[in-house]
Amino acid sequence: MKRTYAVETYGCQMNVHDSERIAGLLDEAGYVPVAEGLQADIVVFNTCAVRENADNKLYGNLSFLAPIKKANPLMQIAVGGCLAQKDQEIILKKAPYVDVVFGTHNVGSLPVLLERARIEEESQIEILEALEHFPSTLPARRLSAFSSWVSVSVGCNNTCTFCIVPTLRGIEKDRDAKDILKEVRALVNQGVIEITLLGQNVNAYGVDFGDRTAFAQLLRDCGEIEGLERVRFMSPHPRDFTDDVIEAMAQTPNVMPHLHMPLQSGSNSILQSMRRSYRTDRYLGILDRVRQAMPHASITTDIIVGFPGETEADFQATMDLCTQARFAAAYTYQYSKRPGTPAAAMPNQVSAEVVGERYTRLHNHQQGISLSVNEESIGKNFKVLVGDYEGRRDEAQERMTGRSEDFRLVHFSNNVAARPGDEVEVAISQASAHYLIGTPGNVRATRGGDAHAARNAERKKTETSLGMPTFKL
Ligand code: SF4
Repeated sequence: MKRTYAVETYGCQMNVHDSERIAGLLDEAGYVPVAEGLQADIVVFNTCAVRENADNKLYGNLSFLAPIKKANPLMQIAVGGCLAQKDQEIILKKAPYVDVVFGTHNVGSLPVLLERARIEEESQIEILEALEHFPSTLPARRLSAFSSWVSVSVGCNNTCTFCIVPTLRGIEKDRDAKDILKEVRALVNQGVIEITLLGQNVNAYGVDFGDRTAFAQLLRDCGEIEGLERVRFMSPHPRDFTDDVIEAMAQTPNVMPHLHMPLQSGSNSILQSMRRSYRTDRYLGILDRVRQAMPHASITTDIIVGFPGETEADFQATMDLCTQARFAAAYTYQYSKRPGTPAAAMPNQVSAEVVGERYTRLHNHQQGISLSVNEESIGKNFKVLVGDYEGRRDEAQERMTGRSEDFRLVHFSNNVAARPGDEVEVAISQASAHYLIGTPGNVRATRGGDAHAARNAERKKTETSLGMPTFKL
């Protein structure tokens, strides 16, 4: 009988994509995903080091598994990802029953390490400081049959003072454009119609081989791939955002009219102490040029509230910038101290009460802006790509869910013959801060819908009761 596995994921899209690779490698090594509700023989935690509660969650889950593992000595636990990279020894000290600790550059070794830990009956640690093989060459068990992530780079050359990524994922390593496009073409041949190009700072892509125009060119090259309907990317950095990227976005029909560009703060002095090397006028200038080139584009952002030294006036500058920028959505985070980052050692930390209070104020303010931006869509028709996971969750409410071209979440009644991966034209009739509601019209069956249906049929045949590994964000 084949041994089963489950993968628990914390953190960002990078980790979600790495978890797809972990699952793909375990599949290839002969393991199978555990059925829902059952205890897996191998539990892999793919961790995050960005937020404080990520450690708590991991150690909570490990203690929960301790007695289960004691009762079943054949069970194995592996911990990977950013926290493993940072806290390698600490993990084994706190949870000596963990079998494998593997770093962000060691995903490919996981099956070997599990095997070695089993034979040698000893915990294995493998943490590389630098990248050996570009991780996308590893097999992946993709979450979606029609939408996929493609890594263009790993690591980051910036030194934002709140961020642990440069320490944990190393300096930026760009992937060869030929390899990226080869992977995209292969995915498209398998039925993928939407890709998201992924990197810590995607538009710095090319810095590794001295070509500042490489990211714009990559977008244009993706535009040439027949059958690829939607191209997205995340996340760009305002410092490296050049006009040729705006031009490429506007001129390449399958590059979607959506820009997610982290702002982090609307105060120049806070941007400076965050070591974010742009100022608000540059940020707003990019938004103006994007909107000039693509009036229908939506813009979303990330903001950190309560960075050390943030005064009420700094915070107000962030509120004002949100008013001016009219973001369709802003993902707001309360600053949390990460040991090992320069910001954690800054003397003027903001008290938790003040951070919480500002966070609520900004959240409420942005809700109002998002609602008014979304209300502008009422009466318009959106092409909505039906989601798989999003769609499934809404079954109880008899509605389907998908994403518009500009990345708005759209709900509509499920009385149409559309499959996840198909495109539905939806007439928008209602708006809230987080989503739009509309009436479905024409359905366009896509190759993505075919791929989703084929994969479901195949899964039913081969796995009967076995589901996907669990991915928790
Ligand atoms: S750009 Fe800044 S926040 Fe983003 S990964 Fe690099 S150092 Fe971290």
